Amino acid sequence: MNVLDLIIIGAGPAGITASIYAARKKLDFIVITKDIGGQAVLSWDIENYTGYQFVTGPELAIKFKEHLDKFNIQIKEQETVLEIKKENQFIKIKTDKDNYCSKTVLICSGRIPKTLNVKGEEELKYRGVTYCATCDGPLYKEKTVLVVGGGNSGFDAAIQLVKIAKKVYLIESSNKLIADNVMIEKLKQANNVEIYTNSRVLEIFGEKTVSEVKVLLNGVEKNLSVQGIFVEIGSKASSDFITDVAKNDFGEILVNCKCETSTEGIYAAGDVTNVVAKQIIVACGEGAKALLSIYDYLNKTF
Ligand SMILES: Cc1cc2nc3c(=O)[nH]c(=O)nc-3n(C[C@H](O)[C@H](O)[C@H](O)COP(=O)(O)OP(=O)(O)OC[C@H]3O[C@@H](n4cnc5c(N)ncnc54)[C@H](O)[C@@H]3O)c2cc1C
Repeated sequence: MNVLDLIIIGAGPAGITASIYAARKKLDFIVITKDIGGQAVLSWDIENYTGYQFVTGPELAIKFKEHLDKFNIQIKEQETVLEIKKENQFIKIKTDKDNYCSKTVLICSGRIPKTLNVKGEEELKYRGVTYCATCDGPLYKEKTVLVVGGGNSGFDAAIQLVKIAKKVYLIESSNKLIADNVMIEKLKQANNVEIYTNSRVLEIFGEKTVSEVKVLLNGVEKNLSVQGIFVEIGSKASSDFITDVAKNDFGEILVNCKCETSTEGIYAAGDVTNVVAKQIIVACGEGAKALLSIYDYLNKTF
């Protein structure tokens, strides 16, 4: 098996930035990723990425992809990493399509959405139950939808949806909305939204697609006729495929300031790590930093 210098897992902001640095350092590397853009695609309005006063997530992802395409990088897209193991000096990676071997690995696998874990969710996933308002919102023109989650993600989704859907319900399980006030005020200006705290989903119904949802609204069970359910209840680190490195209680990979993990040769950057701020610009910076550390390590070790 060919031994690469580096395998980068994930092509969100961290993985894309690391890939650009790796290409400029002329490393022999590949990128394995489920998609290109990562969570950055999910944001409707980004106002905190330096150089852009305003940009949508999909627009920024296109810019990232164009930058990536400047280099001749081997990207294994729509491929999922299942396992990483360090064996002697090298690191073996198993995916749903192939096996690889490398001197170093950089994990930039970010975060994945949490699920509701209620009856009907798994059966109707992507057939009315969705985890991305930016991607799927336009499909619900003139429909009635439910957004689950009263944090910034839920409000971001609902603010997009009130412009598209006929009616939007937003529910939050705790007794208080946790989104920023500016977002709460913005959503409340819409006349086609109903917002409830102390409320949660009990069951989802539908034959081929979602048609109804049973909810507990302030202690009262009610069936709502909806065609879409947008689950926006947060995310967790996408790190289940690696057991050989130290993680915190949230499954985030512990890294030092050089993006080194507890296992030599395995690095991590961006939202999958215990880095404090989960932001695009931070993930990009961490990806760059990780790659420079890897470059030093390769030069010293091999
Ligand atoms: C709705 C929403 C709005 C946001 N708005 C903003 C904002 O306005 N400003 C801001 O700065 N930040 C925002 N963020 C946060 C920002 O998107 C993240 O901090 C950033 O995308 C993290 O980048 P990352 O590269 O670390 O991970 P991610 O973007 O999560 O990318 C992870 C990559 O890894 C891939 N991957 C995961 N697991 C595997 C696997 N097993 N095998 C192969 N590939 C895998 C994924 O497909 C993806 O390509 C927002 C996030 C969300 C969800």
